[in-house]
Amino acid sequence: MEAIRQQPMSLRTKIQLFFLSLLIVSSLATLGAVLFATNSNVKIQAEERLLVGKKVFERLIQERGNQLLSSAQVLIADFGFKSAVTSFDTATIQSALENNSERIGAEIMMLADLDGELIAVASTEAVSVSGIPFQILLAESDQSTETPSSIAMIDGRIFQLVNLPVKAPVTVARAIIGKPVDQVFASQLANLTGLEVRFSGLTRSGTLVKVSTLAAGELTYQDMDGVGQNTLLASNNKHEYLALRTSLTESSDYMVDAILYASLDRAYARYEKLKQQILLIAGIALFTSLLATIMISRNITRPIANLVRSANLISTGNYNEEINSDSGGGEEILALTQSLQIMQLGIAEREERLLTQAFRDSLTGLGNRLFLIDALSHLINDNEASEFALLRIDISNFKQISDTFGYQASDSLVEAFSRRLIKFSQNEDRVARLSVGRFTMIVPKLKESEVADYTDSLVTVIGPTFMVAEVSLQIDIVIGVSLFPDHGDEAEKLLRRAEIAVDLARIEHQPFGIYQQGQDENHLRKIALVRDLKIAIEKNLLQLHYQPKLDLSCGQVNQVEALLRWTHHDIGFISPEEFVGLAEQSGLMPALTDWVLKTAFDQARRWQQMKLDIAVAINLSAYDIVEQFPAQMELMLKGSGLSSDRIILEITESAVMGNPELAIKVLQQLRNLGFKLSIDDYGTGYSSLAKLKTLPVDELKIDKSFVMLLNQDRNDQIIVESTIELAHNIGLTVVAEGVENIESFQLLEQWGCDRLQGYYISRPVPAEQFETWLIDFESKNLKQQVHNL
Ligand code: C2E
Ligand code: CA
Ligand code: CA
Repeated sequence: MEAIRQQPMSLRTKIQLFFLSLLIVSSLATLGAVLFATNSNVKIQAEERLLVGKKVFERLIQERGNQLLSSAQVLIADFGFKSAVTSFDTATIQSALENNSERIGAEIMMLADLDGELIAVASTEAVSVSGIPFQILLAESDQSTETPSSIAMIDGRIFQLVNLPVKAPVTVARAIIGKPVDQVFASQLANLTGLEVRFSGLTRSGTLVKVSTLAAGELTYQDMDGVGQNTLLASNNKHEYLALRTSLTESSDYMVDAILYASLDRAYARYEKLKQQILLIAGIALFTSLLATIMISRNITRPIANLVRSANLISTGNYNEEINSDSGGGEEILALTQSLQIMQLGIAEREERLLTQAFRDSLTGLGNRLFLIDALSHLINDNEASEFALLRIDISNFKQISDTFGYQASDSLVEAFSRRLIKFSQNEDRVARLSVGRFTMIVPKLKESEVADYTDSLVTVIGPTFMVAEVSLQIDIVIGVSLFPDHGDEAEKLLRRAEIAVDLARIEHQPFGIYQQGQDENHLRKIALVRDLKIAIEKNLLQLHYQPKLDLSCGQVNQVEALLRWTHHDIGFISPEEFVGLAEQSGLMPALTDWVLKTAFDQARRWQQMKLDIAVAINLSAYDIVEQFPAQMELMLKGSGLSSDRIILEITESAVMGNPELAIKVLQQLRNLGFKLSIDDYGTGYSSLAKLKTLPVDELKIDKSFVMLLNQDRNDQIIVESTIELAHNIGLTVVAEGVENIESFQLLEQWGCDRLQGYYISRPVPAEQFETWLIDFESKNLKQQVHNL
C-alpha cells in the first residue's frame, strides 16, 4: 500500500500555531504566578493574624489570671477567714471557701499549710481531692513570680490557677484558686481573637484532654515551607487552617498546649473572586490575541496566496491577469510580486514567439500548414463566406533539383519562388508553404471555369526559370485545385482534395487538375493499398510471374521477363501498374525492388542449377536509379553466385530521360558489372534514337502500344519497322512486346526484330508453369521446324 503523503502545514497555520502556543504559555505563566502569589499571600496574612491573635490570647489569659487573683485577695483579706485559718477552724474555713468560690465563680478553692498539707477544699464540680497535684502546684507558684496564674491539669481537666499566701501578719497558709479552661472560655477566646482555639492536655498516665472551638474531626498537620517556622498547615477534608502552637505548661506529670487556628478557607474565598476575574481576563486576552493572530497571519499570507493564485493562472496559460502588487505584504512580497510580473511577461512573450514559430515557416516567413488550416477555417466560418479556390502548387522536380544542386540552392529556390508567389497573390496571408517544394494559395471568388486561365497565368508569371547561385534552374509546376463550397466545407477536407487533385495531375502529366467528385474515395483506397502493400512485402505475399521472350534468330526462349503479381486478400488482383505507382509515390520502392531482385535472382540461380539457359529480365523504376544502386547490385550478384549475363535490367525510357546524367552514370556502372540493359516502353517518351545512342544500353523494347494492333495499324507498322532498322543501325537489339497474333509475329519476324514477347507466345506465368510451358514449347517448336523444312 502506498504511504499516505502528509500535506505540508501551510505558512498561515504555522504562524497561528506559533503565536497561539506563545500566548497559551504566557497566559499560563501569568495565571500561575498570580495563583502562587495569592496562595503565599493568604498564608502570610494568616500567619500575621495568628501572631496578633496569639498576643491577644496571652493578654486574655493574663487578664483572667488577674481577675482570679483579685478575687482571691478579697477572700484572704477577710478578717474572719484569717482568724479561722490561724485558729485552724476547718469548718469555718470550709464554709468561707465555699461561699467565696460561688461568689467569684471559681471552681476550685483550696487551703494548705506551709508544709503543703491540705487544710480545706471547696469545689463546685466534683473534683476529687486526691487528683490534685498539690505539691506541684505549690512548687510552681513559688517559681512563677511574674505571672500571677498558672495552668495545670487536675483530675483530667485543665485549670487556670492562682496561688497566694495567707498572712496574719506572717504567712500562715497558702490559698489556691482555680477556674477551668473549658469550652466557654475557649469560645470567648475565639470570639475575641477571631481565631479558632484548642487546648490540649496530656498527663503522664496518658489521659488526653481537648477543649476546642473546632468542629469535631481529626486534623492532619504538615510543615510549611517558606512561611514562619512555628506555623503548621492543618487540614481535614473540609477545611484548611494555619496553626500556631504555644506551650502553656510542661511538668513531669502533665503538659498543656494551646493551638490557634487561622482559617485559610475564608481568605481563599476572598481571593476566589479575584482568581475568577484573572481567569476571565486571561481568557479574554487569549481570545482577542487569537483573533489578532489570525488576522495578522492572514495579512502575511494573503499576498502570498495571491501570488500562488497568479502563478497558477500563469501555469494554465493565462497571462493577461494582472498580478496585484499592492497587496501590502511588505518589501519581500513586493520583490516577489515584481519577479512574478517579469516572469509573466517573459513567458507571454516566449509563448507568442513559439506560437509564431508554430504558424510560420522559418525559411520563407510564409504561413505553414497550421496557418493555412487556420486561415481556411476563418474563411469558411465567416458569416458572409463566399466562394474561393484552394490551389496546391508543387514544384514537381524539386527533389531532382535539390539532389543535383544541393540544399543551399534549393533553399534559395524556395525563397525566390515564394517571393514570386506572394507578388502574384498580392496578399502574403493567402500564401502558405506546406513542405519543401509544396505551396498553397487561396484565391477568393475564383470559379471553376476560371481555374484554367488563372493557373495558366500563374505558371507563366512565376516560372519556369530561376537564377540561383548563377545557375539557371528550370522548374516544373503542377497545380491541384479544390473549390469552396463545392468540394467541402472543412479546411482539412479542402486541403486533402487539392492534394488529390495535384497528385492526379502529376500522374497524368497535366499542368493542373481540379478535384472531381469520387477521387477522394479513390485516394482512400490508395492509402489502404499502400498500407497493405507494405505488409505484403514484409510478409512475402507477392509473387513474380515470368513471360518468355522468343529469340527469333534461333527460335529458342532463353530470356524471360519477371513481372510482379499481387493478389490482395479483399480486393483480389491488383495491377502492378497501380501498386508499383503507389510504391513509387509512397517511398516503398526501395523495399519493393529489393524483394523483386532477391526473388528474381533466386529463380535465376535455380534455373542455372537446373541447367536451364534462361536469363531473367527485371524491371526497374525511375526511383531505383540512384547513386548507390550499382553497389547494391554488385553485392547481390556476389551473394547469388550467378553470372551477370543471367540478369537483364529493364529501365523505362522516361526514367532515363528524367535525369539523364545520373541515369547514364548508373547505367554505365551496371553495365560494367556485366548486366545487359534494356530500354523499356520505347516510343512513349518522345525521345529520339539519337539520344539513346549516348546511353550504355544493349536492347530496345518497343512499347506494346505500337505492337498490339500492328497487324491492322499502318502507322504502327511504319514506326515499328523504322525503329527496328534504326536501332540495329546504332547497335541495339530490338524486342517487341505485346505480340498478340500471328500476323504481327510474322511482320516483326520479317522486319528482323530480334526477340518477341506477347500473349501470342505466352502470358506471364508462375515459374513452374513456365518450366512445363518451356518443355512443351521446345518439343512443338522442334516439330514446327521439322514441318517447315
Ligand atoms: P512492362 O514492363 O511494360 O511489362 C509488360 C507488360 O505488358 C506486362 O504487364 C505484361 O503482362 C504485359 N503484356 C505482355 N504481353 C502482352 C500482350 O500480348 N498483350 C497485352 N495487352 N499485354 C501484354 P503487367 O504485368 O501488367 O505489368 C505492367 C507494368 O508494371 C510493367 O510494364 C512494369 O512497368 C510494371 N512492373 C511489373 N512488374 C514490375 C517489377 O517487378 N518492377 C517494376 N519496377 N515494375 C514492374
Ligand atoms: Ca518491362
Ligand atoms: Ca514495356
